[in-house]
Amino acid sequence: MTERIISVEHLSKRYGKQLALNEVSFVVEKGQVLGVVGPNGSGKTTLFSILLGLRKPNSGSFSIFGQTNPEDVRAKVGVILDQGNFYAGISAKKNLTISAMTKNVPLAKVDELLEKVGLGEVGSKPFKSFSYGMKKRLEIADALLSDPELVIMDEPTNGLDPEGVIFIRELIMELKRQGKTIVLSSHYLEEIQKVCTHFLILKKGELVFHGSQEAVLGKFDSLESALTNKL
Ligand code: ADP
Repeated sequence: MTERIISVEHLSKRYGKQLALNEVSFVVEKGQVLGVVGPNGSGKTTLFSILLGLRKPNSGSFSIFGQTNPEDVRAKVGVILDQGNFYAGISAKKNLTISAMTKNVPLAKVDELLEKVGLGEVGSKPFKSFSYGMKKRLEIADALLSDPELVIMDEPTNGLDPEGVIFIRELIMELKRQGKTIVLSSHYLEEIQKVCTHFLILKKGELVFHGSQEAVLGKFDSLESALTNKL
């Protein structure tokens, strides 16, 4: 029996005259790793921000874990956007502790997650002294504090060095093994092909393809040619 984690129906969004999403519909089932790909301006960020409740669609509907208000499922969703909302002057560990208290998560999780993201040694250093990659790792630790069933990541490898990219890949593999559901966007097609079970291709706000990794590769030579194909 498959379990629906996200269900999107005929979602449309305009900014003034600019159509950013046009009647987009798809379903994400438990355990899938869905890669959302498309050129700049294709609507990826708009789609994510609607799913996270940050923007309202003009029409259409969606549900996450069967709920139509993203606020109601916050505890089950880990979000990795950019560099979190942390206090600059206090340590990574203190920042994560505050977050754990807000989320009602046992404080033992803080050290466990700092270790997991490779920040165990630098947990006592202030957030402001962190490099971009370290900030991203802290953002990941924060997103995973509540052991979310669904993890949403917008461009998780952007700006990371090769070690950081490998770290993200291994993290996604581990979450996948644990049966978590993941939705991510990325510009790095080669990278995303290594981890995703499914793909959703957007072009100018239109959903031009949604299907499994096998379905994409059965239809096109590669994800890249699927993206450049004039569908
Ligand atoms: P992507 O994340 O794939 O680059 P976006 O969702 O950011 O795509 O953008 C989709 C379209 O909507 C683009 O044409 C973009 O210019 C437009 N757009 C995005 N955000 C805004 C905004 N706040 N105001 C006006 N137009 C926007």
